Amino acid sequence: MEATPVASPAKLSPSEAEGPLISISKMASAVQPSATMVAGAKARQLRASGVHVFDFSLGEPDFSTPPHICEAAIQAMRQGLTHYTPAEGLLELRVAIAGRYVGRYGLECGPEQVMVSNGAKHAIHNALTATCGPGDEVIIPTPYWVSYSDLVEMTGARPVLVETSRENGFRLSPARLGEVLSSRTRLVMLNSPCNPTGTVYSRSELVALADVIMESRAAILSDEIYENLVYDDAESTCFATLRSGLAERTITISGASKTYAMTGWRMGWAVGPQAIIRAMANVQSQQAGCPSSIGQYATLAALAGSQECVERMRREFDARRLLVCDRLRSLRAVRFCEPRGAFYVFFDVSALFGKRVAGQVIADSAQFCQAALEVGHINMVPGSAFGAEGYVRLSFAASRENLEAGLDRLTELIEDAS
Ligand SMILES: *Cc1c(COP(=O)(O)O)cnc(C)c1O
Repeated sequence: MEATPVASPAKLSPSEAEGPLISISKMASAVQPSATMVAGAKARQLRASGVHVFDFSLGEPDFSTPPHICEAAIQAMRQGLTHYTPAEGLLELRVAIAGRYVGRYGLECGPEQVMVSNGAKHAIHNALTATCGPGDEVIIPTPYWVSYSDLVEMTGARPVLVETSRENGFRLSPARLGEVLSSRTRLVMLNSPCNPTGTVYSRSELVALADVIMESRAAILSDEIYENLVYDDAESTCFATLRSGLAERTITISGASKTYAMTGWRMGWAVGPQAIIRAMANVQSQQAGCPSSIGQYATLAALAGSQECVERMRREFDARRLLVCDRLRSLRAVRFCEPRGAFYVFFDVSALFGKRVAGQVIADSAQFCQAALEVGHINMVPGSAFGAEGYVRLSFAASRENLEAGLDRLTELIEDAS
């Protein structure tokens, strides 16, 4: 089988960054390629050489987009709905999104407070661009989603990384938040349910954080992209609704990617005060024109149609979560908090550092992941990508069969460590 060429993003070397003909901006030279995308590229390379890879690095559902959603996109194309839309997105879609926040969370919200973007990542970028610049600080609890820190740096603002620990379930405490808030804090970024830890804050924990933020002038960017993927008795909370005055300073981020298995459609949104949404729409109008028209019609069908497909996927994720946790619990060398949301388990492998795994002495999480990929053909993402060295992120967006087989390999690797 011929190996297909694989694009693998990598940070530019200094000489590349000052290429003689086109010089690359300071901002772009400083940006790291998304670590999860790099992990995906590595696995593709191995797969292209004929190896079966247990790919547990995915940051996206492994399900297909439900057929009725695809059908709506096809209909839109057939009907010629293939032109620019308003920069902030179609009115009908924004009405549907606002309606969902009103109905589900009791947020007072109209379509003028909603903007649709090319993915939640783009919505986050728009929100940061519209609110932050040099001199500003943005508080990010760690472990954090790979892109937060780079997206903040791209605006010239400074990410302030605040460590949380496994002992307290990777939760930012109100006291710690109070210590790091300053007059320069422009935004506090929260992500519950959290990628990579699966932590879901309870309502009262979020209220306690809200109380601290309300004493400052900081705003909140609440990334709620996993709002529909919670397990056991965990509940999704819309941060903006927690107390009065909060909606005026909260930008809520969500989208279709994780809920409806629509990552490739690039459909995300932001909900917030009208003035900030308008500023974000202005940015977007210059920079992207508008989100994809076809994707917007598909998302409209996703929101308007039966939510049965969401529940079906959630149940399957839940079964896999229990399977993976059971298996990991039997490994004495790893430690983790059982995730209550999203589709990742974030486990501590630092007890293996200094030991030999598959013939290599392991010094850090990147090396552990490399050994797991090269020898066990298991692909995972090192915790260093999420600002949490010592950990590994295993995504259970993979079939139970693959999870079982991959965990057999992982168990073998870890139990043979010496
Ligand atoms: C996947 C993900 C996103 C981005 O989703 P897109 O809509 O596909 O851009 C944002 N935040 C977190 C925490 C994610 O895991």
